[in-house]
Amino acid sequence: MSKYLTLEQSIELHQKLLSLKKEIEDIINVSNESAKPVNLDEPIGRISRMDAIQVQSIAKATRENLILKSKQVDASLEDYRNDRYGICRMCSNTIAYTRLSARPESPFCLDCQSAIEKRAKR
Ligand SMILES: [Zn+2]
Repeated sequence: MSKYLTLEQSIELHQKLLSLKKEIEDIINVSNESAKPVNLDEPIGRISRMDAIQVQSIAKATRENLILKSKQVDASLEDYRNDRYGICRMCSNTIAYTRLSARPESPFCLDCQSAIEKRAKR
């Protein structure tokens, strides 16, 4: 285990990752239903059809976020097993415990994450 975390912290973060994984899997299973394509032949009014399309696109976006998050959780669990958990994938510095506690699946340290977000906005 990464030496900068205490044993308690590392156990706590591992627990968080495991429950996060379960939580995400549950939501993905439920949202499979609402992400189904809208059947335009169904006899529903114009407005409710637009609502249905909107709900569907929100469900799809949420689902894509969840799938990304679930991949990050899996990668973090993999890192955990390989004693690399909490190491930033970009700069190889350690990720602060406070950050991991809030987002245990974080693949990057705060500096790298801000740099990525800045780049994405351009
Ligand atoms: Zn970094």
